[in-house]
Amino acid sequence: MYQKIKGTYDLLPKDTKKWQALEKTIHNVSKIYNYEEIRTPIFENTELFHRSVGLETDIVSKETYDFVDRGNRKITLRPEGTASVVRSYIENKLYADRLPISKLYYMGPMFRYERPQKGRYRQFAQFGAEAFGSESPLLDAEIISYAVSVIKAFKIKDIEVQLNSIGDQESKTMYKAALVTYLEKDIKTLCSDCQNRFETNPLRILDCKIDKDTELLKNAPKPVDYLNKKSKNHFDKLCAYLDAMKIKYAINKNLVRGLDYYTHTVFEVNANLETLGAQNTICGGGRYNHLVSSLGGPNIPGVGFAFGLERLMLALESVNFKGAPDYLHLFLIVLGEEQKEDGVKLLNRCRLGGLFSDIDFLDKSLKAQFKLADNSNARFIAIYGENEKANHKINVKDKDTGKEITIERDQLYNHIITELMNPSQACQTCKEENCDNCGE
Ligand code: AMP
Repeated sequence: MYQKIKGTYDLLPKDTKKWQALEKTIHNVSKIYNYEEIRTPIFENTELFHRSVGLETDIVSKETYDFVDRGNRKITLRPEGTASVVRSYIENKLYADRLPISKLYYMGPMFRYERPQKGRYRQFAQFGAEAFGSESPLLDAEIISYAVSVIKAFKIKDIEVQLNSIGDQESKTMYKAALVTYLEKDIKTLCSDCQNRFETNPLRILDCKIDKDTELLKNAPKPVDYLNKKSKNHFDKLCAYLDAMKIKYAINKNLVRGLDYYTHTVFEVNANLETLGAQNTICGGGRYNHLVSSLGGPNIPGVGFAFGLERLMLALESVNFKGAPDYLHLFLIVLGEEQKEDGVKLLNRCRLGGLFSDIDFLDKSLKAQFKLADNSNARFIAIYGENEKANHKINVKDKDTGKEITIERDQLYNHIITELMNPSQACQTCKEENCDNCGE
């Protein structure tokens, strides 16, 4: 028997409902912030990730799925979304669109060869957003506010926004020099990866999964203490905008984030929920002022974030997120072969009008069809048998109100729509219209 690849998972129907509800909420919040969806291929030229994410990063050096295709091209399954969105932004000249700021979001699978554990997979899904075209900290503030709004839309309350600035190129260079001087004599005490990073990209040492909690790294100089005037101003303004929006954050001077392209703002959102365990970072992001130009585009700054959707889903277990309501509008019970053609017409009319509807396919008895209707959680159950056919009528029961009536067969669709649009005033307890007795 074949089994799924290590680090992957199947989404079965009971789960896809929840995922669809999660995706719908994300689309809705994105609309509120005026971000538009972009979909890019799941594989790209390997070179794209080397140039953007960075050769020295764990992602590129250890975690990508690379292959050579039959045309001898070096291809990589995307490990993150930003590089592809930037590639597409440049290739399609989206910067020439009518609006000076491009606000884009994406959702889809990403691939990293990491050690699988709870909340960490080899194929996982991300939702991310990228905003191009302004250096203003107002756009950083919007991106953080958008991320927080997505989380709030799921009623997740116990979250923490961690914020830091690594400054512009000049500040990063000054900081790098200070870090190298500090680490020089003790670098041999750190892991072999860190010793390599010391030569190639020392900033990445702060992010090392092995050494990050050593005294040496804890006491290392911090990027925020080396910000030049412009960078400090950017960071102060961002904090002021977040304060104005009453978005709480904690400044974490050690936060650098795992990708090479960041400048100025970096942030993460953690959720303190039991179901997440140690993998409690659900969103990470930051500003990247030179990524577009370094990938061959114009000199246009950007800022963005990415959510891990499996972790968001795990977080939702703690807040009891049920997903989309699991119901049908109509279950149509048809009795007898001669009634089936009319039945299928009625069903089709209701479906074309947008009603979630179903029918029995196994010639079950009336009793068994009622059971099917109950199990499918249908609000309306309509019965169409010999008598109804003879009189051009149909019997309809509203499970919410308990009301049962016989109507003209051709009025089935209109009847259901009218009832759905004008909820009955019937009491949920005694089912009487306008009841004053049961306290409903
Ligand atoms: P990154 O692209 O590394 O900044 O990650 C952004 C978010 O994606 C993280 O905060 C996680 O929520 C999620 N994430 C990263 N790697 C994985 C993985 N292997 N499995 C599941 N989620 C992941």
